[in-house]
Amino acid sequence: MEVFYEPILESFPWGKETIERFSTFNPLPKEKEELEREIFLQADDPIKRGKEVLYLRFYKGQFFKRCPGTKGYICCGYWVGNILEGCPFDCTYCVLQAYLNTPFMVLNLPWSKFFEEVTEKIDTQWVLRLGTGELSDSLALEPFLGFVEEALSFFEGFEKGVLELKTKSSNVDVLLKFRGKKRSVIAWSLAPRIIQKEQELGTSPIEERIRAARLCQEAGYPVAFHFDPIILYPGWEKDYQKLIEELFRTIDPKGVIWISLGTFRLPRPLSGIIRKRFPQNWILTGELLPAEDGKLRYLKPLRVKVYKKMLSWLKEYPMRGFIYLCMERKDVWRAVFGMSPKDTQGLKELLETHTQEFLRKW
Ligand code: SF4
Repeated sequence: MEVFYEPILESFPWGKETIERFSTFNPLPKEKEELEREIFLQADDPIKRGKEVLYLRFYKGQFFKRCPGTKGYICCGYWVGNILEGCPFDCTYCVLQAYLNTPFMVLNLPWSKFFEEVTEKIDTQWVLRLGTGELSDSLALEPFLGFVEEALSFFEGFEKGVLELKTKSSNVDVLLKFRGKKRSVIAWSLAPRIIQKEQELGTSPIEERIRAARLCQEAGYPVAFHFDPIILYPGWEKDYQKLIEELFRTIDPKGVIWISLGTFRLPRPLSGIIRKRFPQNWILTGELLPAEDGKLRYLKPLRVKVYKKMLSWLKEYPMRGFIYLCMERKDVWRAVFGMSPKDTQGLKELLETHTQEFLRKW
């Protein structure tokens, strides 16, 4: 990995410390625009090239934001910590390819500002669920970053805050050093092996992710799983059912705090990027049609069928975890669960109540 930094970082003690932390990579000062120009002009595939480059910058924006969600669809009312933008993994379906303008990974600094913003927001009434896995993978660059270590300790100080670290990595060494941190949920995105091998390039194999989840469970962390995106192909039913069986042969279902389900969806511009970057890939061969929010999705009856099947396989295990749909409409919720949260606020409250109750007994 190559590391560059914004020259102004040298004027702050925390900036110098961070540059020093990356000294094994010989970090060089460079303005962000210059680096962008170089990568866009020189690389055939700037997104791929950018996955080998990390840029440290003085971030003047808001670190801590509401997950934007999608209009007309029920979201979970999550908060997003904007620490790292970009990811060293290369999932074919990754929405960041269309969403981020900068081709390389950007580490936003200083984190003290992030922790201040979170402290201001954590009130006494609701449980604040926050994740760092929306604009990157929460563990992929650990332990180099050192963020997770600071964040684990920080969140233990709050009864009303829960940090979710979402990953496709099995490198959990940094987590195992801190046992019994119950305010941090460690979550893995799971998919059958064929998806991991052909669509989630550079990520840890599924059996290693499950083994890592087991280690975290043994170390005292609540764990969570995201079957998202669920991608359909001939034989998906058998593979997803086997995956769930394999998961609960290794993991204690009672220690799973939540599970989300979401079928494959993508903003239209992403389909062009996927075709260009992965011309031989089969991911776009299913029947994906424009939905109300402009995204391409599987048809509703198919999505309902998929969720019902997944739910029936999950329900075979004695779970206390909350199972929810990620960015789905009310009619889909009703068809799958026989009920629907009223709106995003409704789902947020259900999840918060569940989280509080689950962790109280932890
Ligand atoms: S792990 Fe997540 S953030 Fe990273 S490339 Fe895959 S989908 Fe994108």
